[in-house]
Amino acid sequence: MTVRPIYLDCHSTTPLDDRVLAAMMPYFTQHFGNPASVSHSYGWEAEAAVKQSREVLAQAIHATPEEIIFTSGATEANNLAIKGVAEANFSKGRHIITVATEHKAVLDPCKYLQTLGFEITFLPVESDGLINLDQLEKAIRPDTILVSVMAANNEIGVIQPLAEIGAICHKHQVLFHTDAAQAIGKIPLNVEAMHIDLMSMTAHKVYGPKGIGALYVRRRNPRVQIAPQLHGGGHERGMRSGTLYTPQIVGFAQAVELAQVNMVSETKRLIQLRDRLWQQLSQVEKIHLNGHPKERLPGNLNISVKGVDGAALLLGLQPVVAVSSGSACTAANVSASHVLTALGRSEQLAYASVRFGIGRFNTASEIEAVAKHAIATIFSLRKQTQ
Ligand SMILES: *Cc1c(COP(=O)(O)O)cnc(C)c1O
Repeated sequence: MTVRPIYLDCHSTTPLDDRVLAAMMPYFTQHFGNPASVSHSYGWEAEAAVKQSREVLAQAIHATPEEIIFTSGATEANNLAIKGVAEANFSKGRHIITVATEHKAVLDPCKYLQTLGFEITFLPVESDGLINLDQLEKAIRPDTILVSVMAANNEIGVIQPLAEIGAICHKHQVLFHTDAAQAIGKIPLNVEAMHIDLMSMTAHKVYGPKGIGALYVRRRNPRVQIAPQLHGGGHERGMRSGTLYTPQIVGFAQAVELAQVNMVSETKRLIQLRDRLWQQLSQVEKIHLNGHPKERLPGNLNISVKGVDGAALLLGLQPVVAVSSGSACTAANVSASHVLTALGRSEQLAYASVRFGIGRFNTASEIEAVAKHAIATIFSLRKQTQ
């Protein structure tokens, strides 16, 4: 068997935790019923599991179970939130505010709405990746219906000041949506304290299964209206039709519960590993850290390397460590990362960037091996170009 590279790409996806798989298994086989079947025990078993999972997820974000709408992941949740709010508030206003560094699953629905006559403000970010709160407040207009700002960035890990953003939106009575795909289970999220009206979540970034996520939709103060984007059997209070995927839902809840319970210790451990990696890499000349040094996800390290070719760098790293340059979702696109260019990085620095995503199953010795190999690779590439 060939030795596989060390996996440090946890912002793309994470391995499934064994405990999550164990919780899911009976719902593939024994308890296979449709949770919408109300006339027999097969349906009731599945319905009970879904209800329990919904409670776990709601509790994790300080919401109520009725406010959790299951979707196929964060892409769908973002689409449902943004297009759903736009369609439901068409007569109220057609202005939406978002940020240049958002995931494509937010930017592209916004760009789609532009073609339907909506006006979108794409806020810039500071050089550390954080938005400017004064700029946000000034961008709000009487016809603004939605502000969409991600919780934690998938490339540079930067955590936006959600409570402050929520307070501004609340003050101006504009709905606040946040894409929390990278944040759920990693940082504390409280939809009440943070005045969040809609929040996208996904399971596979937090050691859960792929193909399941949810949209939190606020029911009180205010009662948020969204237009469904999938019509059918009227599941999920009419907001998202389609038979619920019980095993995935059970796995999602189990993954989030494990992450919540272990958040403090896991955060501490990941920060230690991440800081150790940076401590070693930063010894090398002309390596820049991308994103705010403190306001970032514990497992995230994103660096730009001066004087090397980005493609050659990734190629050199590949046999030892699985990492991404920029965002995997734009991997087909060879242009520099839109996030790094928004920070004001030059084309070269944005292109020669590496995103390390350290996770639950990485060890200190793996980090040492990666640091050693990365430094050797950079030295050898620099020597070649001299
Ligand atoms: C991964 C990711 C998504 C997409 O989530 P899926 O569940 O894979 O559709 C959206 N936003 C962010 C910030 C992400 O990291």
